[in-house]
Amino acid sequence: MTKELIVIGGGAAGIMAAGRAASEGTEVILCEKMSRLGSKIAISGKGRCNITNAGDIRSFIENFPGNGKFLFASFKEFDNEALRNFFAEFGVETKVERGGRVFPVSDQAEAVVHALGKYAEQSGVKVRLRTKVAKILIENNTVVGVEVEESSGGKKKIPAGAVIVSTGGASFPGTGSTGDGYKIAAEAGHHLIEPLPSLVPMRVLEDWPKELQGLALKNVAVSLWAGDKKKAEEFGEMLFTHFGVSGPIILTLSRFAVKELQAGKRISLRLNMKPALREEQLDLRLQRDFAKFSNKQLKNALNDLLPKSMIPVLIRLSQIDQDKQVHHISRSERMRLVKLLQDLRMTVTGTLGMGAAIVTSGGVDVKEINPATMESKLVKGLFWAGEVIDIDGITGGYNLQAAFSTGFKAGKSAAQYLKTKV
Ligand SMILES: Cc1cc2nc3c(=O)[nH]c(=O)nc-3n(C[C@H](O)[C@H](O)[C@H](O)COP(=O)(O)OP(=O)(O)OC[C@H]3O[C@@H](n4cnc5c(N)ncnc54)[C@H](O)[C@@H]3O)c2cc1C
Repeated sequence: MTKELIVIGGGAAGIMAAGRAASEGTEVILCEKMSRLGSKIAISGKGRCNITNAGDIRSFIENFPGNGKFLFASFKEFDNEALRNFFAEFGVETKVERGGRVFPVSDQAEAVVHALGKYAEQSGVKVRLRTKVAKILIENNTVVGVEVEESSGGKKKIPAGAVIVSTGGASFPGTGSTGDGYKIAAEAGHHLIEPLPSLVPMRVLEDWPKELQGLALKNVAVSLWAGDKKKAEEFGEMLFTHFGVSGPIILTLSRFAVKELQAGKRISLRLNMKPALREEQLDLRLQRDFAKFSNKQLKNALNDLLPKSMIPVLIRLSQIDQDKQVHHISRSERMRLVKLLQDLRMTVTGTLGMGAAIVTSGGVDVKEINPATMESKLVKGLFWAGEVIDIDGITGGYNLQAAFSTGFKAGKSAAQYLKTKV
């Protein structure tokens, strides 16, 4: 019986899994279909790679709207501190930024990929690039190997005592994650939760957000509504773009938007630009500004309250004459401004889809995976790691930590499984 382990997919989860298993003395082949390892890591965090977050384990679980509890055992075994120490050993020192986001001090995602490559090499992993695995070979409910598609179009069987599937999700397919793992999972008898784009920018119907493209708003609240039901709310930073809206809180809300759009619901966003103030407080604030600028026209009286590019848009939406002198503005007109400042609505028409999604929600059903080992509950010797599983977190370094933590656990468990196998 072969004691070799095959790892399918050389992203964050796969490289960590392969290195971990190999460092326990296991013979490991890492199959990656692209011509390099870690393509997605290289573009992550806008090329700076937000490796993890500095928060505690509870915040990690809370920041996974997709099956956070399933990840507890993996996070416990290999947490953010362990990950930062791991990278420090390979020469990548890290720093903490706003919101606990952890980046390499060098701001270079390529340094992270290089460190992982070094880990795989030093542990003795045999890396096979341009090697696409098509399916897992199973006999008597036990893994016996994989079938590889060769570039010539031919197929080759490679025997294996255990397999780790770490093929990623289906988002940003140019990086190699094209959803192959879902087909592999279904053929192995696993059930899938429908893969959908998550952490994805949204398109809106109205034209005014597009006029504001490039404008980032900080410390705002945005809520997502399906019809007249509030589904979620986030506080933080958002961005206007040429197609609609993006930025951290919009990406977080997109997970809910995608599901409601799928269900055919009418989705809208409500932007509160002054969430710290009650309506009466904001009105008083506006009255103070109007007293200060009482002889000015409205278009010149809002500079203390709003970003410059937002002023003409807001005045237009309020239907008040922009040239009207401030001391002539009526209470009801002022209240229209107050309302717009705290409840500016946008109609969501869709998202930018898988091509632009940071992660995929859905994937291999966690009910069929043992969280203590990452082994399949259906097939012996079959392990899962990373985004191919039905797990998805918000932005902030959580998704990469989940890939590394589940990869670590799968690698360790697969090595143990092979040691005990006769
Ligand atoms: C633009 C962008 C920026 C991001 N930034 C961050 C960030 O800063 N912080 C963060 O935490 N998360 C970020 N993410 C999310 C994070 O990168 C992913 O969640 C994480 O990389 C998933 O790791 P993985 O190993 O599970 O999958 P992947 O990194 O997708 O790796 C899967 C690998 O499997 C290979 N593969 C697929 N099918 C086969 C097959 N049949 N045979 C062989 N090989 C195969 C693929 O080529 C790929 O290399 C970002 C994502 C994107 C798209």
